[in-house]
Amino acid sequence: MRWGLIGASRIAERVSKALLAIGGQELVGVYSRSEERGRAFAAAQGVAQSYTDLATLLAQCRPDAVYVSSTNELHAAQSLTALEAGCHVLCEKPLAMRLDDAVQMVRQAHSHHRVLATNHHLRASWAHQRLRGLIAEGAVGRVHAVQVSHAVNLPQTLHGWRLNQPEAGGGVVLDILTHDIDLLRYLLQVEPQAIQTVAQHNGLTQGGLEDGAMSIVTFADGTLAHLHQSFVAAHAPTRLDVLGTEGMLSCVQSLTASGVPELTLRNAHGAQAIPVAPNDLHAASVRAFVVACAGQGAPLATGEDGVRALAVALAALEAAASGSRQILRDPVA
Ligand code: NDP
Repeated sequence: MRWGLIGASRIAERVSKALLAIGGQELVGVYSRSEERGRAFAAAQGVAQSYTDLATLLAQCRPDAVYVSSTNELHAAQSLTALEAGCHVLCEKPLAMRLDDAVQMVRQAHSHHRVLATNHHLRASWAHQRLRGLIAEGAVGRVHAVQVSHAVNLPQTLHGWRLNQPEAGGGVVLDILTHDIDLLRYLLQVEPQAIQTVAQHNGLTQGGLEDGAMSIVTFADGTLAHLHQSFVAAHAPTRLDVLGTEGMLSCVQSLTASGVPELTLRNAHGAQAIPVAPNDLHAASVRAFVVACAGQGAPLATGEDGVRALAVALAALEAAASGSRQILRDPVA
């Protein structure tokens, strides 16, 4: 496929490499608001041409697909423009800043018969795929609770709009909770029904943005999930514990793209390490998207998945602001 990259971002560097490694993919243009940044990105990543006007890129390069990795407030308008131009769209999370915009993206993709996917890359993890299988097989009996600790020490290289630009969708909830909610929907195969959240301000973020949050999510089958996201947690391994009536599955270091996951099953027979090899999550995510664009299956996380994760994140922010539990309704029903 011919690819347009919308956003000269850090994550686009990783995704560009993943795309070129697949074979048959051509990076025909990159859009950046800055001519200098766009040109430098194109030269470094093997993109044919850079543009400071998205319409010109779409008209001149005629990409089959675009990867949208601009800051969050730009995702919706840029994706809608690309869909209108006939492109398949792989969009970064959160899909949009407003639920209406995200729903419109899904509708536009359907009406133009294009694939819209959300880059919720944690679904691509072999550890998570194994975990999902074990849960479905009943390896821990009936799941009644999940604990997620996705607390990291945000690297200096990622400081910037995440920490000080509310209008660009900064803050730990839109950045990390969206991923964790999507992952729990994927693992448990059940929808969240309500969320309570308390946000925290440790002084890293500005402009009222939260740099820590704890939430309790109730799922439709009664499962309770406790989730912690943080930008200020030093030396903390990520953890994902699934508690069932017959045992427990623990996944350590699986929530960051560079982590080496360790999966353990604990039950009446003791603790058993489940072998899981680390894999390149972004490579697997874009590969699934490419296959979906060829008409063979669905992307790992669809546009609808992105809308649902966004709905929960927005409800979490509302819950934190109001101090009240938010009831969730299916935004794409
Ligand atoms: P970056 O901060 O690297 O880039 C975001 C935008 O900022 C770029 O599109 C670019 O604008 C502009 N920019 C880049 N470098 C500079 C600079 N030196 N000075 C000024 N502006 C600059 O963002 P990320 O790569 O961290 O995130 C981009 C998107 O991807 C976000 O939506 C984020 O949520 C998502 N993301 C998803 C991940 C995942 O695992 N699924 C992981 C990381 C991010 P322009 O295009 O106009 O040049």
